[in-house]
This record gives sequence, structure tokens and C-alpha cells, in this order.
Amino acid sequence: MSSEQSAATADQHRAANSWRVAEVIAAHFETDASHEGAARTLRLRAPGLGSELAGQHIDIRLTAPDGYTAQRSYSLALAEGGDEAEITVEELADGEVSPYLVRGIAVGEQLEVRGPVGGWFVWHEEDDWPVVLIAGGSGVVPLMAMARRHRAVGSAARFIMLYSVRSPDRVIYGDELHELASDRAAPFDLMLFYTREAPPESTRPPGRLTRDEVATAAMDEDVRFFICGPTAFVETVANRLIDDGFDPDRIKTERFGG
Ligand SMILES: Cc1cc2nc3c(=O)[nH]c(=O)nc-3n(C[C@H](O)[C@H](O)[C@H](O)COP(=O)(O)OP(=O)(O)OC[C@H]3O[C@@H](n4cnc5c(N)ncnc54)[C@H](O)[C@@H]3O)c2cc1C
Repeated sequence: MSSEQSAATADQHRAANSWRVAEVIAAHFETDASHEGAARTLRLRAPGLGSELAGQHIDIRLTAPDGYTAQRSYSLALAEGGDEAEITVEELADGEVSPYLVRGIAVGEQLEVRGPVGGWFVWHEEDDWPVVLIAGGSGVVPLMAMARRHRAVGSAARFIMLYSVRSPDRVIYGDELHELASDRAAPFDLMLFYTREAPPESTRPPGRLTRDEVATAAMDEDVRFFICGPTAFVETVANRLIDDGFDPDRIKTERFGG
């Protein structure tokens, strides 16, 4: 690495670690806004906020007029680099920060941000291992960044996504995921699992993702897993895989809390 490149990398690290102001430059709902638990995508602009590494996240800090602050992490939904980034936030009706990001903040307003951060839960585009992406609820966000990057770089790595979601109205990025899966040129498969309410055409009764469903999707022993969602979901799925003999070093997890 040349001295100019090292200086540029050092600048990027410094920028990622410092709080700065981002502007909301676009926003749209990913799911029906009239339903509780809706998900909304915000496009943000701040120096160096975009990541090229699929799976990273940013931190957002809100400050009330009395000085009280609340800070939360949000995965980047795109891996494009540059100064723009997208996050997708699912509303927790009794939460502190997510209702504001989903229902409150408007285009043109500002937020404090830090990042992008995280170097473990990331998919590297030069890897050609088969990958199983396992999402619980809003845990689909960083996995979508991986799926989008996978398509953008024309990766030949086999990808399959298992997406566990409460009901059809909670499916985030539904159209795009179906479109990706129906593209015969893209080595991407999608399996949706509804936990509480399945659509009428579904032959699978609602219920949690089973051990057999995960094991069946795990194509071969070289497979790598990325599992993301609520803590209990992630731990249950990862522990079962380890019990079934999959190498823990090939299982990467990200817990969203809750
Ligand atoms: C790395 C990372 C990436 C993430 N990416 C995303 C993402 O892409 N999209 C996304 O939607 N979320 C993401 N999250 C989760 C996100 O950071 C927030 O946790 C989420 O939005 C909820 O925040 P909140 O302030 O609305 O809820 P909180 O106010 O934090 O509440 C969360 C839950 O805890 C309960 N609770 C709060 N306080 C208490 C208490 N004192 N006692 C008992 N229960 C309590 C609430 O009832 C609520 O159900 C990510 C988390 C991490 C760590």
C-alpha cells in the first residue's frame, strides 16, 4: 500500500469513528405504512457513510431538547460505497427510536451518524463459497445488502435465503427478493417461512423455522452461514447448526437484540 493509500484508509477510519451529521435525502415505506410494525427505508447522506462491504452497520444518535440521547445501530441495506447509504428500520410500537425513524423524521431533516462499522458479519465478493442467508424479521436488512452486492458484482457463488417473517404484510423487500429468485441467471434462491399467518396459497402451516428446514437448505459442507435477527432466533438457529455438525467458524451471526 502506498503512503497516499494508507493516509486515505486512515482518513476513512477516522471518519467512520466520528459522529457527523447526515441528511435524510429520500424515504419510502417497504411495507404497508398503515400496519403497526411497518418498515421504512431512509436514504442518508454524510461524508464516507456508504460502505462497499455488505453487512456493515451504522450508529444513529438522537438528542432531545433536554440533552437526553438515545443511540441505536442500523444495518446498511446497500453496499455501494460513496457518501450515501440506506437503512431500513422496522417499527417497534413501544420502542424509543424506531417509531421516530419510521413515522417521525422527514426528508430534508438531519440525524447524527457514525460508521460504517463492523468487519466480521460481512460477505466478501471474492468468496465463491455457497452461502445460506437466514433472516428473522428485520434481520433481512444486512442480508439484502449481501444479496444486492452478489448480484451487482455478478458473483457465481450459490446463495439461498431463508427468511422467517411473522406474516405476509411484514415481508421487507418482497418484490425485489422474488424478482432476484426468479432471475434464472442469478444463482439466488428464496424460501419464505411465515411464523404467525401464512398467505392463502402457502402449503406450509404458520410456524417457526424448523431444524429440518434449515438443514435441508444447507447445500453442502463448504457452505457459509449468515444469520441475523432477534437474539433468540439467531441463537436457536446457530446452536442447532452447530449441534448438527456444521463448523462454527463458518457460521456468522448478528443479533438485533429483543
Ligand atoms: C448491529 C445491529 C444492526 C441492526 N440493524 C437493524 C436494522 O437494519 N433494522 C432494524 O429495524 N433494526 C436494527 N437493529 C435493531 C435496532 O438497533 C434497535 O434495537 C431497534 O430499532 C429497536 O429500537 P427502539 O429504540 O425502537 O426500541 P427500544 O426502545 O430499544 O426497545 C426495544 C424493545 O425492548 C423493550 N424494552 C425497552 N426498554 C425496556 C426495559 N427497560 N425493560 C424491558 N423491555 C424494554 C421494548 O418494549 C421494545 O420491544 C440492529 C441492531 C444491531 C445491534
